[in-house]
Amino acid sequence: MIACSENCIYAKEGLCWLKEVTKPSNTPIKDCPYFEPKEKQKEGP
Ligand code: SF4
Repeated sequence: MIACSENCIYAKEGLCWLKEVTKPSNTPIKDCPYFEPKEKQKEGP
């Protein structure tokens, strides 16, 4: 696994836990085609 600190469902404790590389995400970012955003973060109070 690789280090990654994106706000991604596969990121845990600074590491990428994506094991099965299947199809690219619908929400890719420039550094990773498999990025999937976690549930909406709380913002503000
Ligand atoms: S799938 Fe990509 S963005 Fe998500 S934790 Fe892994 S490397 Fe990071």
